[in-house]
Amino acid sequence: MTLKIFDLVTYYYSELGTEEVTLYVGEARKKFTVHKKLLCKIDFFLGAFCRGFKEGVENTMDLPEDHPEAFELFIDWVYKAKLPAWEDMEKLLVSYAQVVAYHEHLQKFYIFAEKTCIPILPNKIMDLLLLVNMTLRAMDKTLPDTYLRALAAAYDKTTEGSPLRKLFVHSLVWSLWDLGIRNVEEDLVEEDSVEGDSVGAGEAKAVQQGWVERVWEATSDRVDLFEDIVTEFKAYSPENCPKFPRDSRWVNEASPCYFHSHDTEGEEARCEGSWETEIARKLKQAIDWQVELIRVVAQDRTWFMR
Ligand SMILES: [Zn+2]
Repeated sequence: MTLKIFDLVTYYYSELGTEEVTLYVGEARKKFTVHKKLLCKIDFFLGAFCRGFKEGVENTMDLPEDHPEAFELFIDWVYKAKLPAWEDMEKLLVSYAQVVAYHEHLQKFYIFAEKTCIPILPNKIMDLLLLVNMTLRAMDKTLPDTYLRALAAAYDKTTEGSPLRKLFVHSLVWSLWDLGIRNVEEDLVEEDSVEGDSVGAGEAKAVQQGWVERVWEATSDRVDLFEDIVTEFKAYSPENCPKFPRDSRWVNEASPCYFHSHDTEGEEARCEGSWETEIARKLKQAIDWQVELIRVVAQDRTWFMR
């Protein structure tokens, strides 16, 4: 006899048992109810719920420092055992505001996954985040703002060496460089325009000065962030410009694990092995989607003003 879908679903849920736990997430204590058996497959929760701690006795847990948006993505992953496919997400992210929101939710999800030490999951989130990051690049002319917000969260919530810090330091430096800060050093501002951009000399200089001040303000109480940004800047020269993170990760100029965290070389080798087929396919879909997006935006420029 062949099992029907309904039987499989019934089997799946019967395997989960009936015991549930309640989690209150964020300052507003948003309530989530999850099957205990499923959650306890993760060491972080196994320790709290299944080893005699207060949470295990009461079957409740408070996560005041985490974000409900991140926890929703986490619960979705827990039940489906996989992250959303990019080809599905691209259909849902139809406005600029939605892409920015998803970008931020993925950052919070990454921070949560890193904090709870779930193996491999941060790398999977990073792959998705890189795709959304790339999409923002095609849509957003004020990227440094987005990256400064991301960096503030990353430096508050992660520790030294986190790939999330690395990604956004790299992204910020790339975007500032791209905006024309390099021209201050080269004294090329008087030559009318920034390469690849259409702003004039006066406007470019104002943009540069504005960004220097904003980075200075944003890093005034974060010496480690300031040091990381300066170190990244010093690694480049006019002959060796920073590349958009996509280039390191996706075009195979560096390791495909450039923004990953791996405990062993074997784990990294498996990651590299699966990268070329799976990720290259996703990249092509992302580029196809961007081409379509740019075509739509070109038809209706007021779309950006929403
Ligand atoms: Zn990897």
